[in-house]
Amino acid sequence: MQVELQAHIAFHLTGRMPQGEGDALPRSDLQPALLAGYRDLTALRYDFPLVLAAGADKQPVQSLSALFDGALKEIAANGDGERIRKHAGRLEGEIRKLIAEGTTGTLSKLCDLATIRIGAKNDELLQKSLDRLRAALKIDGEVIDCDKAMPLRLFQHAWQGLQDQKALKFRAQINTLILKLSDILSADFGHSKEGMSAERLQASIGAAHRDTFDFAAMSRMLTAASVNVPMAESRRQRVRGLLATLRTQRFFPPATESDKWIGVAEPYAFAFETCSEAVAAYRERLPKMTELAKAMAIAKLETDGEYSEARHDAFFEQFGDNGLDADDIAAFPDYLICLRAAEFRAAESDLILRAFVSGMPAKLVVLTDDLLEQSPIRDDYLIAGLRSRQLAGAAIGFGASYVLQASGSNLFQLREQVLRGLAYRGPALFSVFSGANASHLPAYVVAAAAAESRAFPSFTYDPSAGPDWASRFSLAANSQVDLDWPSQRLDYEDEEQQRVSETVAFTLVDFAAVDPRCAKYFAKVPRAKWTADLLPVSEFLTREREDLAEKVPCLLMVDRDNRLQKVIVNNTLVREARRCVEAWRSLQELGGIHNSHAARQLERERKVWAEQAQAAAAAVSPQTSAAAVAPAAAVAVPAAAVVAAPAAAEAVPEKSPDEPYIETARCTSCNECTQINDKMFGYDANKQASIINPDAGTYRQLVEAAENCQISIIHPGKPRNPNEPGLDELTKRAEPFL
Ligand code: SF4
Repeated sequence: MQVELQAHIAFHLTGRMPQGEGDALPRSDLQPALLAGYRDLTALRYDFPLVLAAGADKQPVQSLSALFDGALKEIAANGDGERIRKHAGRLEGEIRKLIAEGTTGTLSKLCDLATIRIGAKNDELLQKSLDRLRAALKIDGEVIDCDKAMPLRLFQHAWQGLQDQKALKFRAQINTLILKLSDILSADFGHSKEGMSAERLQASIGAAHRDTFDFAAMSRMLTAASVNVPMAESRRQRVRGLLATLRTQRFFPPATESDKWIGVAEPYAFAFETCSEAVAAYRERLPKMTELAKAMAIAKLETDGEYSEARHDAFFEQFGDNGLDADDIAAFPDYLICLRAAEFRAAESDLILRAFVSGMPAKLVVLTDDLLEQSPIRDDYLIAGLRSRQLAGAAIGFGASYVLQASGSNLFQLREQVLRGLAYRGPALFSVFSGANASHLPAYVVAAAAAESRAFPSFTYDPSAGPDWASRFSLAANSQVDLDWPSQRLDYEDEEQQRVSETVAFTLVDFAAVDPRCAKYFAKVPRAKWTADLLPVSEFLTREREDLAEKVPCLLMVDRDNRLQKVIVNNTLVREARRCVEAWRSLQELGGIHNSHAARQLERERKVWAEQAQAAAAAVSPQTSAAAVAPAAAVAVPAAAVVAAPAAAEAVPEKSPDEPYIETARCTSCNECTQINDKMFGYDANKQASIINPDAGTYRQLVEAAENCQISIIHPGKPRNPNEPGLDELTKRAEPFL
C-alpha cells in the first residue's frame, strides 16, 4: 500500500508515475463520470438546436423542442394527440441527427428532409400526423446547433431584428416629415405667380377638360385675387435643405423600392469584424449623424409651424457641438462588432474601451473558443480565458456599459438578457465561450462544463437596472450559485453490481478532464490500486491543507463502455482549481453572495447590540448574567441584517423514490416544467420550482417535465393513478429520473 501511495503522491506532485504504477490518461477515452449521459446529444431532448425565427412579431430565438411542444399542445385537444406526439418525437429526433451531421437550413427544409428519412411516404398515419404538426408549427427560420458559429449567428440575428424595428420607426418619422415639408413647398409654389401661370393650371387639369377652360383668363383672375404673402426665401431654402438631408440620409435603408431616391448612395453597413473599422466608421459618420438629427429636429418644428428664426437659428447653429444627446443617439443604428478573442489584439481592446467611454453605441461580441492558455513562466496550461475576462472587468469598471458573460450553452436561457443588452442605450459587451475547443465532446457539453465548473460563469451587469450592484449585477444564471461548485447526484453500479448513489461536485478539474491537452495532468489508477488515500478532488479542494497529508485528489471518470474509473490529478490542475474558485468567490461577493463586507458589518452590529443589551440588563438587575441576556440581544437584530447573513443550509429531508419531487435548490427557473402544468409545478419566493400539487396533472406530465428539465432535477416518482393510460411506457421513461 505504501508503495502505491508514494506513486500516487509522486504523480500528484511531479506529474510522473513510477513504472507500472498507473497509466497516463488515454486521449479521447475517458470523460468525467458526471458527463456520462452526454456522449450522444442527439438522444437527448434539450433546448438546442435553436430556430432563428423570421418575422418582426416573433421571438427571434426559439428552441426547437419548445416549438414542437407548443405545436403539440395545440393539437393535443383532439383524441389522436398521443399518436401525433410519438410521431413528432421521431421527426424532432431526426432533425437533431441531421443537424449533428452538419446539415444546415431552415426549419421547413429540415422538416422536409427528416420526413423523408423517417419514411413518412410509406406510412399514411405518420404522414398525417406530420402534416398536422407542421400546420401547427407557425414559425420558420434558420436552425442552428450549439457549435463554433452559433453564438455570432445568434447575436447577428437578434441584433438585426432590433435594427429592423428601429429602421421601421425611423423611416416612418422621416417619411412623414418629407411629406409635410413637401406639402409646405407645394403650397408655396401653388400660390406663386409661377404656380398660377396658365401653363401650370393647364397641366394640373385632366386632359378631358383642357379645352373647356380659358387658362390664361383663369391665371389673370387668380393672380389678381391672390392675397397670399409668399414664403420668405430663407424659409424656402431651409425647407429645401431639410428635404435634401432627409432624402439622402444613409443610416436607414428605404422601406421599399419606391422609397429609394435616385442618386442616393447605398445605406451604411453597421456590422463589423474589427473594432478599428467600427470606430473609424462611427467617427467618419458622426457629422452626417449630427446633420440628420438636426434636420429631424428642425423639420419637426417647421412642420408644426413653430420654427422661429429669431429663436432657433442660433440654437441650431451650435447643434451637436457638445455631442448628440442620448435620445438622438438611441434613434440611430447600433454598431455590431463580432470577433474572436484569439484574434483580438490589445490595441483593439484598448480602442473599443475608449470608444465605450466616449459613448459610442457599439455592441461588441467577443467569442472565446479556448480557455486554455500557455503559462508564460512554466510549461503548463492556465485555464483562464484572460483576454475576455480582462475586457469584461474593464467594461464593468467603466460603469455605463451593459455586460453579459455566458457560455454558448446558456445563451438560450439568457435570451432575454441578450436582447436587453442589444437594445441597451449605450455600449454593450457580450463575452461568450463557444465550447468549440480541442475536446472530443460536443461544443454544447464543453460550454456547459465551463459554466458548471465556474471556469466561465455567467453574469450580467445592467446599468439601467438600478443605481447599485444589487440591482445591476446578477449571477442568477449559474447553478447552485451560493456554492463553490454545483453538486450533482451520480448513480453507478459498483463492482458487486450494487447501485451506488453519491453527490459529486463538478469542479474545474472535471472541465479540464474533457480537454485532451490536459491528459498529462491525469493518471488512471487500476481498480486493484484504489486505496483510501484517493480523495475526491472536490473534497480535496475544500479540506484544510493540514488534513491532506497522505491524500491524493482523484476524479471519477467513465470509459467508452461507461465503466467507472478513477484517475489521480496532478497538482497543476489543483492549483488552477483553487485560483478559479477564488475568482468565483469574488464574483459571488459582487452578486451579494457571502459578502464579506456585509458579514463583517453584521458581526460588528451584533457585538454592539449584545453590549447594549448587556448594559441595559445590568442596569435593571445587576445580578442578571450576560449569558441570560444573550438570547434577547440576538432577537434584537433587525430583520434586514439577518437577511444579509449567509443562510444556513437547510436540512434536506430524505425523499422517497415513490413520491415525485424536485431538487428545488438547483432549479434554474427555466419555466419548462411550469409551462407543462402550472398547477402541478410552481415557483417559490426565490423563483425556484417545486411540485405544489402532484395530483393537479397526470403522470405523463411529471415524466415529460422530468425529460424536459435540462438539469434533470425533477423526479417523477411512481404513478399515482393506476388507471392512467400508457403507464408501462411512462414508467420506463421515468426510470432514469427516479
Ligand atoms: S425544475 Fe422546472 S424550472 Fe427548474 S430547471 Fe427544472 S424544468 Fe426548469
